[in-house]
Amino acid sequence: MQEMNADVIVVGAGPAGLMLAGELGRGGVRAVVLERREKPGTAQKASGLGGRILDVLRYRGLLDRMTEASGDPSPKPIFPFGGVYLDFTGLDENPLHAMAIPQARVEELLAEDAVELGAQIFRGHEVVAVTQDDEAVVAEVNGPDGTYRVRARYLVGCDGGRSRIRELAGIGFPGSTYPEVNRLAAVAVHESVTVLDDGGIDVPGFGRIAPGFTHTDNGIFALGAVSPETRVMFFQTTEEEDAEYDSDEPLTMAELGDSVRRVLGSEVPLGEPTRLSRYQFQDRQAENYRCGRVFLAGDAAHLLPATGAAMNLGMTDSVNLAWKLAADIRGGAPANLLDTYHDERHFAGGRALLQTRAQAALRQGQDPAAQALRAVFQELLTDEPALRRMGALVAGTDLRYPMPGTHSLTGTFAPDMPLHTDQGATSVAELMHAARPIFLDLADRPDLREIVEQWAPRVEIHTAKTGDRPADAMLIRPDGHIAWAATLDEQTDTSTELRAALTQWFGA
Ligand SMILES: Cc1cc2nc3c(=O)[nH]c(=O)nc-3n(C[C@H](O)[C@H](O)[C@H](O)COP(=O)(O)OP(=O)(O)OC[C@H]3O[C@@H](n4cnc5c(N)ncnc54)[C@H](O)[C@@H]3O)c2cc1C
Repeated sequence: MQEMNADVIVVGAGPAGLMLAGELGRGGVRAVVLERREKPGTAQKASGLGGRILDVLRYRGLLDRMTEASGDPSPKPIFPFGGVYLDFTGLDENPLHAMAIPQARVEELLAEDAVELGAQIFRGHEVVAVTQDDEAVVAEVNGPDGTYRVRARYLVGCDGGRSRIRELAGIGFPGSTYPEVNRLAAVAVHESVTVLDDGGIDVPGFGRIAPGFTHTDNGIFALGAVSPETRVMFFQTTEEEDAEYDSDEPLTMAELGDSVRRVLGSEVPLGEPTRLSRYQFQDRQAENYRCGRVFLAGDAAHLLPATGAAMNLGMTDSVNLAWKLAADIRGGAPANLLDTYHDERHFAGGRALLQTRAQAALRQGQDPAAQALRAVFQELLTDEPALRRMGALVAGTDLRYPMPGTHSLTGTFAPDMPLHTDQGATSVAELMHAARPIFLDLADRPDLREIVEQWAPRVEIHTAKTGDRPADAMLIRPDGHIAWAATLDEQTDTSTELRAALTQWFGA
């Protein structure tokens, strides 16, 4: 059997796998992406990116590619949270930004980036077996020309919710599948249907349907307000069903029409569709994100019971993992660095599950108690601090990895700042493009720079000035998280903590 070599095998060319391949390229290691489908899928999945991943993409210089394709991110005025709404319109600073870009386009742009950085993507190649020992991991692959093997230092299963890699590695995926199917559509309003002034519609033979939720004995029909100008109708049906659908199997107009008929008990004539998607909710998290040389990222590691967060979470898994794998492969990485991937990303997945489970609880039930819960929650959300806190939780911007260190910034994502250096003007975002560890000295401390120089060239040193500095010096990991920060005064000896952080993350 033929055998090829790689540094890292990435299984699956979805958003998590492609982001990982690009990041590994930035880290200077060779990734081979194996994707079982011959062509990118046609099922319409995520319709946008939002929250922390936008900052991460900007820190890599990738956001420009996305905005060229789809326009700038913008503040989200209202975010539906289970059965209630987060209304950010009254806040001075909106905590949740999002950009509308179809998942297929995100994948296309990430693939482009990964290939430019040296990744090889093989489509029509399915991984069917995995073995590992102390030296390497070997994947057995069914390709168009037969079966072959790929040998690598590590393998990452980015192969979606039904992950074969997770199964082969024997990693448990406890949780539940909700007995509920949602079918989402954007269609042109049929000529026989009248658009009403309140954004509702009048359907011949059925009558008026108002925007919002129409509950029937057979499910929910949710209608977004229809604009008389565009005559585009966004709606969703929700039905109780035990069936488990393949998320790669596209929704058809016939299936959608049947669902509308079941829910409303009547035919609704539908015009041409511009979007058709079916989704179900699962609530699952892999027990371990690592088994020896095999790792999991993206949906293979977690499935969330609400929309809007899964793709972003999976891509950030990849950003966390890539620099650690690259450091290990290049040599000199600390022994336990790779274990921090599970610790940090299982924790991050737990935060995402926390807010999506809360959404699931809030959208369930029509009895007075359930309605009261929603009403109370909605009332609490008129308080600014509560609203800000929820916004940060949904955006994932409140994530602080548990790390040793006394400064309040330790573990958080480094804020972007304009910087003035001897070489001219720059910013934190720009310094992070190359995905390298950075020591940022904002208070001109040669004594600290001297310490960090012992870690050169692994860690880049930048001395800069900025207007309103959140700390006097900080050590930023390639994923943008702060490993050490200090606000210094003459009395404080932070050098021991700095040495410890440098050793912990970048080796002795
Ligand atoms: C209708 C719908 C709407 C959604 N809306 C949103 C949204 O608004 N926001 C959001 O964040 N998320 C949304 N999601 C979720 C989002 O699509 C997923 O979180 C995302 O696709 C996960 O990316 P991934 O790379 O982890 O896995 P996937 O995208 O599932 O990619 C896995 C890849 O692995 C390949 N593969 C599987 N097994 C093998 C194997 N053995 N060998 C080789 N290749 C293999 C598959 O073919 C696939 O291409 C939505 C999903 C659906 C279905």
